[in-house]
Amino acid sequence: MADPFVVVGGDAAGLSAASKCRRTDPDRDVVVFEKGQWISYAHCGTPYFVKGEVEHLENLLSLSPAAVAERGIDLRRGHEVVEVDTESRTVTVRAGGEPFEQPYGDLIIATGARAVDDPIEGSSLDRVFTLHGLDDAAAIRAYLTPPDEFAVADLGGDDAVATDVAERYGAMTPPETVAIVGAGYVGVEMAEAFDAWDVDVHLFQRSARPVPGFGDAVGDAVIEVLRDADVTTHFGEEVVRLRGDGGTVDAVVCDTGSELDVDAALVGIGIRPNAELAADTPINLGASGAVATDAYGRTSVGDVYAAGDVAEMPHTVTGEATWDPLGLPANRAGRAIGATVGGKPTPVGSVAETAMVKAFDLECGRTGILDHQRAREAGFDPVAKTITAGSRSGYYPGAAETTVTLVADRDTGQLLGGSIAGTDRAAVRIDTVATALGGELTVGELERQDLGYAPPFSPVWDPVLVAAKVLNGSLP
Ligand code: FAD
Repeated sequence: MADPFVVVGGDAAGLSAASKCRRTDPDRDVVVFEKGQWISYAHCGTPYFVKGEVEHLENLLSLSPAAVAERGIDLRRGHEVVEVDTESRTVTVRAGGEPFEQPYGDLIIATGARAVDDPIEGSSLDRVFTLHGLDDAAAIRAYLTPPDEFAVADLGGDDAVATDVAERYGAMTPPETVAIVGAGYVGVEMAEAFDAWDVDVHLFQRSARPVPGFGDAVGDAVIEVLRDADVTTHFGEEVVRLRGDGGTVDAVVCDTGSELDVDAALVGIGIRPNAELAADTPINLGASGAVATDAYGRTSVGDVYAAGDVAEMPHTVTGEATWDPLGLPANRAGRAIGATVGGKPTPVGSVAETAMVKAFDLECGRTGILDHQRAREAGFDPVAKTITAGSRSGYYPGAAETTVTLVADRDTGQLLGGSIAGTDRAAVRIDTVATALGGELTVGELERQDLGYAPPFSPVWDPVLVAAKVLNGSLP
């Protein structure tokens, strides 16, 4: 193995890169180091596993270790890369015993991100959780399951699940009251998951609205569904401390001085890129703290690439380096880098920060730049309009109100971003707006797109087109 393609991280970005490289150049040696036991897993499905909608942890897996081996990839689980030496082109790997060195021809850092909880005092108390990985999900679901109904084997996961942690939580009396700290998309999805177990859910968010990245109209719609679902919302309140006697959390304390007794807490206040491997190397980080990359996912060191939650990518609207830690960019950039390393140079593309979240029955989506301050900083003069329109012809059963916000530049009409909320297939409609951003359409051009119409699916004027008409009409 003279010049293997070495992949650090065995999930979305890493395994996409490894698989595509082998497909593009079947003669290339590919080694994947994954520090954990899980590979090719869907973080995105973990709230639904906790809820019980997804039955087993295995349901969240895409490729098994055997399927990876069949692709001719040398997968090493339980192997942590602890250092990169870009001069000798080696990585140092720890796997239980003495660390060893692995030479590389090309290297991809696909180490993802980790949940942040450190700004909150007391986050290391027992029964304080974060949700970043299948073992976290297993522990939370074990805790929610009554002890007389719990069996670790029911979680699934065979050799990969952290059995000791799950068994410890499975033996505990389930919580009655849970605080979720942070109402971003994970916090909102987890409110639904806890609610399904009849837990009294309190959702804290320091800003006035949940899912702040989705804009005010979506935030207002989410507030309504949370209240209908009897989730107690504490918006405008910042949790500063988790308090506990004897090492177990028993209360959350806010900046306002108010306190709430709880049995458990979930901290969902954000993530941080696992970019430590770049330390003490010439691999540059961007302003976000994630690894800076070029159009091909290359770092500042030519034969070292980075993709996924650990890397920045160019923004579709501004072209600026952006950290957008989501599933599609990770898979897409990993795949492109695999092709490039395999001999077929392929750009990683850009990110519009397109995202979707389900809040109970409400579907929400966002893409591009919604925040006016951010738009101004990028040199635009933003104008926004919010409309509400039906999701199907009014006479057709199932039609529901859909709220769309579009933002455009006043002078040029260039579309900058959009958001959507509604209960009837609303979230996927954001893809129309994302595609328009990718095509650099003006809002007038979006208004003239030939979208489909038939009563069961859409009114004559799709809600996105209604918003484009209204916004375009307001421009000079
Ligand atoms: P990861 O999936 O985190 O994989 C990185 C891997 O690298 C890990 O397995 C880790 O163990 C390994 N690793 C780290 N350091 C080392 C090392 N030094 N040596 C060896 N191995 C190492 N995105 C969406 O688009 N839609 C969603 O609905 C959505 N929902 C989500 C819900 C939750 C609860 C979470 C946590 C994330 C969600 N995401 C969602 C984000 C999405 O899961 C990530 O963007 C995606 O998994 C990133 O893939 P990745 O390969 O970069 O990182």
